[in-house]
Amino acid sequence: MRLRNKPWASDKLREHPQYVVWEDDNVKGNWQKHFQQNQPIHLEVGSGKGRFMIEMAKAHPDINYIAMELQTSVVISILEAQIEEDLPNLMILHGHGGDLDEYFEKAEVSQVYLNFSDPWPKTRHEKRRLTSPKFLTQYENILPDAGEIHFKTDNMGLFEYSLSSMSKYGMYFKQVWLDLHHSDFEGNIMTEYEEKFSAKGQPIYRLEAVFRNNNEIQI
Ligand code: SAH
Repeated sequence: MRLRNKPWASDKLREHPQYVVWEDDNVKGNWQKHFQQNQPIHLEVGSGKGRFMIEMAKAHPDINYIAMELQTSVVISILEAQIEEDLPNLMILHGHGGDLDEYFEKAEVSQVYLNFSDPWPKTRHEKRRLTSPKFLTQYENILPDAGEIHFKTDNMGLFEYSLSSMSKYGMYFKQVWLDLHHSDFEGNIMTEYEEKFSAKGQPIYRLEAVFRNNNEIQI
């Protein structure tokens, strides 16, 4: 899927190849070369302005993070934050989550994060939801066996959909939170959307889901 880039924004992204990669960079299988340390890679699909990835990268220097975002203008916001921070364990990927297996080899990514993904409430838009089967296949293709997805949202409809979509796909749930901020979960890092929605008093839902190993006996 080709991205329609605004020329000024494309120029800005091109000026910072040490921080940003995109579709025509030959990255598949070569991600570790973009980081100072060879260590596990965690990917967020739909990073928005990137605060979650920036704070995670600061809190966990032993993990390499990739913030993936579709919208060029939003990618610029992540880039501006990373120019300030200059974190050695954060890269920005300007791309579409439906193309993950063009960007990553099997098991090149150790964990996938989805935060406050667009809910696409209309049934006819189901395929656009980042937890629909097409996207789950993409995550499975780039994660190791028994790879994990960690997902947060304020949207009950999307959360319900995701539970059943992942379950039908054969994933299992390590843990589910129906009110993350009033739970004993430690080390939560708030995203931009999370701060906005929780300030309105909305509960935050969270889940950790695991792909089943093919050799595992299905229950
Ligand atoms: N995770 C951020 C932003 C949530 S908004 C936060 O919690 O604050 C959802 C973001 O996902 C938007 O910036 C949107 O552009 C991006 N997005 C939606 N579909 C995408 C896709 N298929 N691939 C990559 N990014 C996508």
